Amino acid sequence: MNNIRRGTLAHVKKILIKVGSAVLTGHDGLDIKIIDSLVLEMSDLVRQGYSIVLVTSGAIVSGKQRMNITGKLKSIPEKQAAAAIGQGRLMRAYAKSFEKNDLSVAQILLTLSDVTDRQRYLNIRNTLSTLMEWGAIPIINENDTVAVDEIKFGDNDNLAAMIANIIEADLFINLTSIDGLYDCNPTVSKKAKLISVVNECSEEIEAAATEETSSAGTGGMKSKFQAAKKVTAIGIPCIIAPGKKKNVLIDIMYGKEIGTLFLPMADRLNSKKYWIAFTLRPRGKLIIDDGAKKALMEKGKSLLPSGIVDVEGDFNLGDPVVCVDRKGAILAKGLVNFSSTEISKIKGLKTSQISHVLGHKDYDEVIHRDNLAITKQNFKNKI
Ligand code: GLU
Repeated sequence: MNNIRRGTLAHVKKILIKVGSAVLTGHDGLDIKIIDSLVLEMSDLVRQGYSIVLVTSGAIVSGKQRMNITGKLKSIPEKQAAAAIGQGRLMRAYAKSFEKNDLSVAQILLTLSDVTDRQRYLNIRNTLSTLMEWGAIPIINENDTVAVDEIKFGDNDNLAAMIANIIEADLFINLTSIDGLYDCNPTVSKKAKLISVVNECSEEIEAAATEETSSAGTGGMKSKFQAAKKVTAIGIPCIIAPGKKKNVLIDIMYGKEIGTLFLPMADRLNSKKYWIAFTLRPRGKLIIDDGAKKALMEKGKSLLPSGIVDVEGDFNLGDPVVCVDRKGAILAKGLVNFSSTEISKIKGLKTSQISHVLGHKDYDEVIHRDNLAITKQNFKNKI
């Protein structure tokens, strides 16, 4: 048993568990035995008093199996069709297994556009918290059938990180087909060592995470690392662990040395700032001067027109934009109070000059600090 792990897990109540396709896949499709044993462990945790929300892949794999398709699916419509066939089968497998343990399940299918819209985001949050109050297990997957590039989470690691934020999880467990994060690619080097604890998601550690995927999965270790980085930024610890290992969940919660634990960062982004930083895609860019940079980064101030040097992109009031310094390094992301056309007219001016130039002044700040998420050093260029 390990003290860091026990300390990290001591106050955990709400757990977001993500299960990857490679974990759920047997020789030719869904591995029902694995589903049964993971569900048994999750049910045990529920009996111990934990709340669980599950993000699961496996729809495409299951649909392929049903249609007797071997090899990779090439086109997007093929994948979407396979997901449409497989999602029901996947849910049936989970439902059957959870019912044996006296637990009900609820299916939730989402696309990125469901969480970028603040109102729908809040609706999802309310539904999930009601399900948890009722003791039902929410089972979430991407709505693959309708998701195309612009509204896609990309992979279920990213989806799971966003759900961890929505439910304000105390722990994110990412079950995958390998043992955790290695210091170099274990399929290439025999010397690769498993990293037990990551204190900070540095660029050096990120470099160790490969994009290579199993034949069933989507994002590889890189996307698991990025998901870990996102949740640790809001104070949620993350464990990447081997999903096929017997008792993996029980052992994790017991504090055993298993997988890689990512410790939460000391200063947290609150939920709304997290939503801004990691959920919304920027519509433009504000280049700011050194004075504004200092005010934002060190003093926690709002962004005023006087600190803006230039504007890029075409955006409206309320849209997300990134703030960069003169060298182009991303410093923050926030929601603007003015359109790009208005900002190009008031950039560099004093607040008192806004109404003179625009004929109105609804706000003093271009981005209010409550709507501004500061980029940490180690998130550089990643938002
Ligand atoms: N949503 C896909 C499925 O259920 C999986 C995506 C992923 O593995 O990241 O098959």
